[in-house]
Amino acid sequence: MGDTPAVLRRSDFDALLQALRRRDYTIVGPTIRDGAIVYDEIEQTTDLPIGWTDEQEAGRYRLARRTDDALFGYAVGPQSWKQYQLPAEVTVWRARVDERGALTRVQLPETSSPRYAFLGARSCELHAMGILDRVLLGGSHPDRADRARTEDVFVIAVQCAVAGGTCFCVSMGTGPVAERGFDLALTEVIDDSHHYFHVEVGSERGADLLGDVPHEPADARQREAADAVHARTAAQMGREMDTTDIKSLLYRNLEHPRWDEVADRCLTCGNCTMVCPTCFCTTVEDVTDLTGEHVERHQRWDSCFTVDYSHIHGGAVRGSTRSRYRQWMTHKLATWYDQFGSSGCVGCGRCITWCPVGIDITEELRAIRADEGGADARD
Ligand code: SF4
Ligand code: SF4
Repeated sequence: MGDTPAVLRRSDFDALLQALRRRDYTIVGPTIRDGAIVYDEIEQTTDLPIGWTDEQEAGRYRLARRTDDALFGYAVGPQSWKQYQLPAEVTVWRARVDERGALTRVQLPETSSPRYAFLGARSCELHAMGILDRVLLGGSHPDRADRARTEDVFVIAVQCAVAGGTCFCVSMGTGPVAERGFDLALTEVIDDSHHYFHVEVGSERGADLLGDVPHEPADARQREAADAVHARTAAQMGREMDTTDIKSLLYRNLEHPRWDEVADRCLTCGNCTMVCPTCFCTTVEDVTDLTGEHVERHQRWDSCFTVDYSHIHGGAVRGSTRSRYRQWMTHKLATWYDQFGSSGCVGCGRCITWCPVGIDITEELRAIRADEGGADARD
């Protein structure tokens, strides 16, 4: 947009939420539930995880107290905005069954949804939302329901001020600084005597909202402070992934012995796919009530780690753990390029943190790369 960056005082943060509510937005943002920072509807600033951070390592996630009252002083939680783009379960249609057993009065559910404002989206998450939109809306059969759920979303990005122990967005070119895809982008700055948000405007409606909230132009010192937050976060990445020639690397190593090693540890629980902001596998299930007169078709998240997911006539194509892990990782990092024109991974680190046995996608790739020269499955 090119608007001059502004500064929003911490004491005026509630005014920002009120301005969103006056525009009839349902605000979804970070809040604490069940020992984790999740996304849910919020009403006021005190619903945010004030003074909390997250500690993340492979197979480990803990909340911890910060020494300040940061509103957004954490990296990312187990949930992503995927739950709004592609809810975990939706009813596709409902119908009655008549006395001849035929479906009658088939009804499609309402596709309207609240007018959402997403507060606290990270740079990697904006990239993930764009990738998932390309998947769900870009083909010849776009998901009408996804469009209805998210096309009018007001996005307030918050630049990461701490990197998680499993983050590697810098390697993937997806962060830590959000550069587009938002209406407003906030950088939270806290020092001994100040607590404010450096605000960048990304759209006309972002400028309109900011105009409704007390703010002032950012001065040079405040801009430098925001830049320092971005640089510090980029230097804190817990992981990195060398993406050089990544697609060919994986295609050359489809029979690498590392797939057997990772299969010895993998539980095929599917957690990595559930928490991934771009994984989109679904299945459908038809259910009847006890009378057998009412039928509903439900679409539910599924995972390439289940045996059934690759079941075709004659059995499952991916019967082994080895083949299922290989399918997941090579789809994310290689075949996704062929299918959708980009990586399927944005480096958020969730699959590493939430894997119960701590399998680390960056470590698996590093092991294969280090051992290049093994059997070439394409020869
Ligand atoms: S890699 Fe980890 S999270 Fe993914 S299926 Fe295997 S054990 Fe579960
Ligand atoms: S593959 Fe792992 S690190 Fe990459 S986007 Fe998915 S959850 Fe995040």
